[in-house]
Amino acid sequence: MIPSSYSAEQTAYANRVAAYFKEHYSTQPLAHVITYGCQQNVSDSERMKGELALMGYGFTADPAKADFILFNTCAVREHAEDRVYGNVGAMKRYKRTKKGMLIGVCGCMTQQDRVVERFQKSFPFVDLVFGTQVQHRLPEFIYRRLTTGKRVYETKLDNAPIEEGVPVRRDGTLKGWLPIMAGCDNFCTYCIVPYVRGRERSRDPEEIIYEATEMVRSGFKEIMLLGQNVNSYGKGLDEPVNFAQLLRRVNAIEGDFRIRFMTSHPKDCSLELLDAIRDCEKVAKHLHLPFQSGSDRILKTMNRHYDREKYSELIRQAKERIPQITLSADIIVGFPGESYEDFKQTISLVEEVQFASLFTFIFSPREGTPAAKMADPVSREEKGKWFQELLAVQEKINETYLKNTVGTVQRVLLEELSERDGFCIGHTDGNVSVEVQASPELLGSLVTVHIDSYERHLVGTIC
Ligand code: SF4
Repeated sequence: MIPSSYSAEQTAYANRVAAYFKEHYSTQPLAHVITYGCQQNVSDSERMKGELALMGYGFTADPAKADFILFNTCAVREHAEDRVYGNVGAMKRYKRTKKGMLIGVCGCMTQQDRVVERFQKSFPFVDLVFGTQVQHRLPEFIYRRLTTGKRVYETKLDNAPIEEGVPVRRDGTLKGWLPIMAGCDNFCTYCIVPYVRGRERSRDPEEIIYEATEMVRSGFKEIMLLGQNVNSYGKGLDEPVNFAQLLRRVNAIEGDFRIRFMTSHPKDCSLELLDAIRDCEKVAKHLHLPFQSGSDRILKTMNRHYDREKYSELIRQAKERIPQITLSADIIVGFPGESYEDFKQTISLVEEVQFASLFTFIFSPREGTPAAKMADPVSREEKGKWFQELLAVQEKINETYLKNTVGTVQRVLLEELSERDGFCIGHTDGNVSVEVQASPELLGSLVTVHIDSYERHLVGTIC
């Protein structure tokens, strides 16, 4: 297929910016991009770096040398916001010493009115403030700022289809992100994402297959399909394709590579998807399925649209269909109104499922979400004790999982040299780190490994 090309309008702006630099700069201008938050932001930054390269920018790790500093921000945690204000403020000094230097702020933080107002009033040296759905227009924003001298504010969320053909400059060469959708329609009561990234929109499957094929052709060995809720991929597309079908199509791409995906939502995780994971040899036998709480009462107030029984049944089906599956999940401890009895339900689900790993968070309210207005009588100190209790339970389960892995055969991507001579470090399908006896020439390969031992970590040899 012929992929969509980058917008003619933005390409023209990029060319004009490049011409501007040729006329006004004696050396190549440099950009410095700082990314906060989740993998979605990392992936967005890779696309904006692609646009910057198209405009003629090179890149520097040193902000003092940069002609453009871009902050791609996150709204999920409050202390991350404070850090952004502090770090943006610290860049002001470079503007004094470097004529024509620009500073931009984008990402989830800038979709909140109070944040935009604060940048307008208190950060007059910030040149561009733009939102999550207009990042593909970066060439236009830079051109406008360079030629009109006016600060640019563009934060509209109009939920237009995702712009295809945006150039990408990926950070790595072995493992790469591939966004398949944007936004979220779920409105979990604790989550800011639907308000700052807008409604769920899926990319054209042909564009995804094209991009994945290009990644494999250029040497990527692991592709992470990315979305806030990949399980509901395909809603609203002209050609009806669901996520299970998309996985099968990516799996059919020729080459030696591994496919991962995140994040899943239990309410949309289908048996068809479990079958696709089982059948597709390139898909990692790993399911990260956030359950957040083991208490039905709390799941209801979280607006998660499943209950414990449905979650347990999904896990039972996953284990039955894919016996070698590795499971992981996200959990929130101390949601508003959660009692110790509710929390015990979470512990009992953790013990029942036996996750290989957990990503656990103590609830922190996000302004603008319903949960931030809910009564929350349990102290932070008490929640901290619950959190420690959960960690202790999970530590034992994780230890058992690792011990049980000894003697098994695992597919491992060798990613870096170990400190020990003659060994490389890699990750299994279940995303567990393994030290493998292997020569350095094998770095970047997917190999089959027998797990020989576990002391502080897994150690194996190539079969
Ligand atoms: S599914 Fe829920 S937690 Fe995940 S992004 Fe959407 S609203 Fe947030």
